[in-house]
Amino acid sequence: MAESAIEWTESTWNPVTGCTKISPGCKHCYAERMAKRLQAMGQPNYIDGFALRTHEQTLALPLKWQKPQTIFVNSMSDLFHEDVPEAFIRRVFEVMQRAHWHRFQVLTKRSERLLELSPRLPWPANVWQGVSVESDRYLYRVDHLRQIGARTKFLSLEPLLGPLPGLTLAGIDWVIVGGESGPGARPMHENWVTEIQAISQAARVPFFFKQWGGVNKKRTGRLLHGRTWDEMPARSVSLQGV
Ligand code: SF4
Repeated sequence: MAESAIEWTESTWNPVTGCTKISPGCKHCYAERMAKRLQAMGQPNYIDGFALRTHEQTLALPLKWQKPQTIFVNSMSDLFHEDVPEAFIRRVFEVMQRAHWHRFQVLTKRSERLLELSPRLPWPANVWQGVSVESDRYLYRVDHLRQIGARTKFLSLEPLLGPLPGLTLAGIDWVIVGGESGPGARPMHENWVTEIQAISQAARVPFFFKQWGGVNKKRTGRLLHGRTWDEMPARSVSLQGV
């Protein structure tokens, strides 16, 4: 089991590693930086660095983890990348369905492929599907997400690179906001965040503020209006009908 430092999950599971950049949010991709580090350390799943690879041997791992937990699927890739065969994506979903005691969080920027494959995937209630959106130009990903079969749908608005005045939350169950962190981090303005928070509160959608980000994210922290915002969708709802 790989414990995660990401604030909104507990563990990570990477049956796919590696990716290619598709939009401005990818510019300082954390997974790319980490993959190169793991390659240098000789980790077998990263011998090809950030090139996309599927890993058969990792597929069954969640079935062996007995303690129920929240698992971020493919923190080091994008499950709906065009080079991941549909058959492999279906096997990932089969494992998530069988490992019903866990909660799985899948996040993609490839909302077109997500929408295309959705009718052919099982959508057990323990699978939460999200899309990443970094600026207004990519809000169409939210429209794609609304049309798929997942019962819990969420947004990762990170790295937030601009305001989202066009954001609407009908059919959305959870909103995460975060600024970019690390070398070369691009700034996130407070009014972009407060506007999204107001939209979330008006729509009664749980709001999770992950971080301000910046070059030193520990220094900027994760307080908004003097407190943390760690709201999540109700667990009882997510596990109904598994
Ligand atoms: S989609 Fe995600 S994993 Fe892929 S390059 Fe962009 S930020 Fe990195």
